[in-house]
Amino acid sequence: MNVRIEHTKQPKNIPTPEELGHIHFGTVFTDHMLMIDYDKGKGWHDARIIPYGPLSLDPATSCLHYGQLIFEGMKAYKHKDGRIVMFRPDMNMKRMNDSCDRMCIAPIDEKDTLEAISELVKTDSAWIPGAPGTSLYVRPFIFASEAFLGVHPSKSFTFATILSPVGAYFKEGLAPVRIYVEDKYVRAVRGGTGYSKCAGNYAGSLKSQEEAEAAGYSQVLWLDGVERKYIEEVGGMNIFFVIDGEVITPELNGSILPGITRDSIIEVTKSWGMPMKERTISIQELSEAHKAGKAREAFCAGTAAVVSPIGELKWKDAVMRFNDGKIGDITQRLYDEITGIQTGAVPDRFGWLHTVK
Ligand SMILES: *Cc1c(COP(=O)(O)O)cnc(C)c1O
Repeated sequence: MNVRIEHTKQPKNIPTPEELGHIHFGTVFTDHMLMIDYDKGKGWHDARIIPYGPLSLDPATSCLHYGQLIFEGMKAYKHKDGRIVMFRPDMNMKRMNDSCDRMCIAPIDEKDTLEAISELVKTDSAWIPGAPGTSLYVRPFIFASEAFLGVHPSKSFTFATILSPVGAYFKEGLAPVRIYVEDKYVRAVRGGTGYSKCAGNYAGSLKSQEEAEAAGYSQVLWLDGVERKYIEEVGGMNIFFVIDGEVITPELNGSILPGITRDSIIEVTKSWGMPMKERTISIQELSEAHKAGKAREAFCAGTAAVVSPIGELKWKDAVMRFNDGKIGDITQRLYDEITGIQTGAVPDRFGWLHTVK
């Protein structure tokens, strides 16, 4: 793919490490963005890296009305030797196409698109922070850009990517979080769009998130959309438990988002020879295991936070505390291993790093 580059004439100030520590996740963006257009009959064309700035859209642009919009999230890191890498971006490109398929969006060429994204990361590589726990968040997205009112797939799309330098995801750092088990609202059902990273899934989750925050919790844990019995996932992260020495995560069933961090944790756990199962687990089973003192650790997994320990889970009137509200040994070990691979501190024995530069 030929990518045209138009450099900004007004470069912004790159946040200093000290400033980065105070910036909220996803609020500061780099100097450039990538855009690629799609038109039916013509395919994807006109890939360009241009100065970051507002888009001009016809008010009838279909994504504004019917939500035909998907996104991805991945990270780029700067290693000590100056090498710039992305973590398993081929998986994000593949998942993006799965989301495209579900939302009737034209598929992308995974290899070409990743090359264009790499080109953008290279262009703004001065923005990639180097301190531990920091990275450059890469946000590709595609929206329906045809101007028409009517519920049918758009004939044109815009692919874009923006970049945001980030410090640690949670304000508390690696400190365990408090999570509220949602039993009123549901996020997804089998046959729905739960497995795709489409914007509507998140709009539908806001109300629950807002109520959880008002009650003093940082995230919600979703149960299955039909019986509200089985554990699915947390806001924008998958969930894991250590029960009786076994690492357990809910199996992918169509309503859970197939996380790349989730997949990485499964691979790492198996490589250590640790018992690991992807299986259905009900909140009742978890509660009983917890009462019996068998549920030792609980943590969330996603690109933004990587691994985030759960200190407390509130389900109806009961509160389950894990590992005395402190990070567990297995959680810590997984965090160290995966962030170690990402930052170059641990050898990349799985071949997960994609060199940008
Ligand atoms: C993105 C996301 C995840 C985590 O996926 P990663 O690829 O690990 O970042 C989990 N659940 C939901 C709902 C998500 O949107």
